[in-house]
Amino acid sequence: MKTIGLIGGISWESTVTYYQVINRTIEEKLGGLHSAKILLYSVDFDEIECYQANNEREKSAEVLGLASLRLQCAGADCIVICTNTMHKVAPQIQLFISVPLLHIAEMTAEELKKASIAKVGLIGTKYTMTEDFYRGKIEKAGIEVVVPDEQDVAYVNHVIYDELCRGKIYQESRDGFLNVISKLHAAGAQGVILGCTEIGLLVGDAKTTILLFDTTLIHARKAALFALGK
Ligand code: GLU
Repeated sequence: MKTIGLIGGISWESTVTYYQVINRTIEEKLGGLHSAKILLYSVDFDEIECYQANNEREKSAEVLGLASLRLQCAGADCIVICTNTMHKVAPQIQLFISVPLLHIAEMTAEELKKASIAKVGLIGTKYTMTEDFYRGKIEKAGIEVVVPDEQDVAYVNHVIYDELCRGKIYQESRDGFLNVISKLHAAGAQGVILGCTEIGLLVGDAKTTILLFDTTLIHARKAALFALGK
């Protein structure tokens, strides 16, 4: 079994889910007492968030790149960045290491293709919804991406940083997110990407009439399969 290098803490609320899903997948595939070989480098999210807010891309790339290098030196066979947003600097991080960085948007695009989705809604941080680094990967797979309007982008972004990344799960926000998801459905989306690793904590168990693609579950499961050479 290969060793998975996780960069967590972005936020740690969802890193917990990665740890659980990776181990559950290994258990499901190998049975018995098998569990995943994981190295975790957990960063201080406040530092990363400040770099994001000030658009200091090089600084966040350096922190995450050095973290990746340390994981590689400690024996990681791949790197998994436990967040969608920081894939903004994925190309720069990859320059620090020779092991593969398992890209969350590429893995999500694979799942969308498997489900024959031609048009998908995307919710996540404002960076993920409005910049090209993420939706570009989905579009490259031939899938059209629709995002919420400006007001909903601000609302979703606010709930992510002020509630979900702080472990606050409120019914009102769950209703709000389900409303945003239904608007994307009405706009023609055949599925919606939960493109922020904490959104599953809010709506992951909701019964919706539209398919939800939870990037945390997709990314973590694929990391476990990578470790098993599948
Ligand atoms: N975990 C979040 C994501 O998947 C947001 C935190 C961040 O990286 O800013 O995008």
